[in-house]
Amino acid sequence: QEELIRRSEKLSIVGELATAVAHEIRNPLTSIKGFLQLFQQRAVVDEDKHYYSIMLSEIERINSIVSEFMILSKPQAITYQNEKITSLLMDVITLLETIAIVKNIEVTKEFEPNIPFVKCEGNQIKQVFINIIKNAIDAVPTNGKILIKVTKLEEDQVLIRFNDNGRGIPNDLISRLGEPFYTTKEKGTGLGLMVSYKIIEEHRGSININSEMNKGTTVDIILPVSSEK
Ligand code: ADP
Repeated sequence: QEELIRRSEKLSIVGELATAVAHEIRNPLTSIKGFLQLFQQRAVVDEDKHYYSIMLSEIERINSIVSEFMILSKPQAITYQNEKITSLLMDVITLLETIAIVKNIEVTKEFEPNIPFVKCEGNQIKQVFINIIKNAIDAVPTNGKILIKVTKLEEDQVLIRFNDNGRGIPNDLISRLGEPFYTTKEKGTGLGLMVSYKIIEEHRGSININSEMNKGTTVDIILPVSSEK
């Protein structure tokens, strides 16, 4: 309980910061990026070219942190609509399939027929799916497997399960998932899961993560089905 309260305090502080800062960072960053690209083109020494590309990729990193912050600062004007969860998932899978193909990852879908509608903000839910599938893609080796399952639970809930056969998450780190900036990736932001937790909480759903080292990870999302028919 206390952990939950601390987590939501953290979320609201980050959310407020996001609103204030995110927009202000974008524009100067775009101009810095433009000039860096110009200098990179003009560079004659290989070493300099290399430094410019490091600077540009670091700017990309700041950009992706800012985009994720912006999702946090958006939720004032969102519209909830009855959506087909499986269609939202298909959109995201199509988007990410190219990355999966390059890594030779097998993505399997098991969608139960006649899944009821979920009242949600489609783009936010897609963002959650993207974050989770991307994590799975990052975690599995070449020839890895990702299974995405959608089933109807009793009590008017839908379960969306993402299972991968990746490296897994150490037990003592599971409780840190969803903490801002907790990442084990060189180019990670450690914001994907935090944003996902926040979005799913706002939809009155829940996220549950189970993992076994070197065997894989299962991320379960439970969402309430729409009461309107
Ligand atoms: P990021 O992806 O930027 O690191 P996230 O909040 O999405 O941020 O994830 C935080 C960390 O959780 C990751 O760096 C990774 O160590 C761990 N993680 C998340 N999903 C998985 C997964 N499916 N398998 C293994 N580790 C994972």
